Amino acid sequence: MDFPSSLQDQQIEIKSTFSPHFGFLLLFAVSVSLNFYFLFFDGKNSVETAKAIPQEEVSLEIEQTISQEEVPFNLVGSKDEGLNREKNISLDKIVPPAPKIQQVSFSISDDKKIGDKVVQSLEFKVRNSLNFTVCKIISHKEGCAALSAHLGRLMSWFFDVNRSIRNGDAMKVIYQAQDGPEQFKILNLSYKSQRFGKTFVANFFDGLGQPGYFDLDGNEIASRIEESQSPMRTYTEITSLPGDFRKGLGGHSGTDFKAPVGTPVYSGFKGKVTRANWNVRANGYCVEIDHPQKGIKTLYLHLSKVLVKPGQTIKGGQKIAESGNTGRTFAPHLHYEIQHRKNRDRIYNPFKSKHHKHYTRKIPVDRLEQFKKTVQGYNSLLKQS
Ligand SMILES: [Zn+2]
Repeated sequence: MDFPSSLQDQQIEIKSTFSPHFGFLLLFAVSVSLNFYFLFFDGKNSVETAKAIPQEEVSLEIEQTISQEEVPFNLVGSKDEGLNREKNISLDKIVPPAPKIQQVSFSISDDKKIGDKVVQSLEFKVRNSLNFTVCKIISHKEGCAALSAHLGRLMSWFFDVNRSIRNGDAMKVIYQAQDGPEQFKILNLSYKSQRFGKTFVANFFDGLGQPGYFDLDGNEIASRIEESQSPMRTYTEITSLPGDFRKGLGGHSGTDFKAPVGTPVYSGFKGKVTRANWNVRANGYCVEIDHPQKGIKTLYLHLSKVLVKPGQTIKGGQKIAESGNTGRTFAPHLHYEIQHRKNRDRIYNPFKSKHHKHYTRKIPVDRLEQFKKTVQGYNSLLKQS
């Protein structure tokens, strides 16, 4: 049994809004764009890109402009973007970034060893774009696109990366190669921004219940949704936000929570289940809940187990599913999407819209010592380079 993809759904909807005179032209355009799509995406992440979000809507909701020329932030969908970029750029204009790369064995603190895994550090000045610069230093084969996507994603908690990066901004990064689709883990990032006249720092710290990135004062870089309203109470990290760039087809429509298969998924608000397990080939097992009092619908994709049925009434905070890796996805994660309940093209960012309360963690006093040791470890590593 073959399920229609939501990309096809979208095309059909667009078609119905045009006059029949344009039918042929439209068919042609659709076929060209589908060719383009399959050429670049292998159909692996169509669920995420399937809905072309009008850019004005995304900009309104999350105050972020998406440019096709910019770095792909989403790791689940990141590809060799750099290869295509380089074709369009005159190499003569690029000043070599004079990178430093070193490989050392490194442990961040006495009791939280990263072990003997190889850690690498990199120092460079941005030329042209983050992705371009990183791909000048390490090769595509070594994963420069994935590394720059990790960096861009982390930096997007500081500022709007598309607008704020300047040529000559200085970056230092410590990272570690990982098994699996993500390829890298960033341990320490320091970004000297000319636009903001300050240096942004993120330190990976694993000394709390859930790991995270913290500034030098121990404040977490990423926001978290208040537990009672969050679709996930424990997760590894946010790997994509609404509006994250996806090549050619508008932005990402949801927020991706990286989490092991089987992690409980909750409805943040009371409501009624409107759909479950539609378009399974792309979405995997999935649930949609209508929240009339909030004026929104919430969607949960790539689940391993669905615990509710269409028509069922849901309480706020009720467990509705378990996360998984079903449908078109590279790695286990929950795709959580918040739509206006009457207009599904209006997408909300849970960290910027009024619908969710959010906060940032701070390292508690009894863990500060351990955190400082971790930061010292990073600093001494950078000094060696
Ligand atoms: Zn997603």
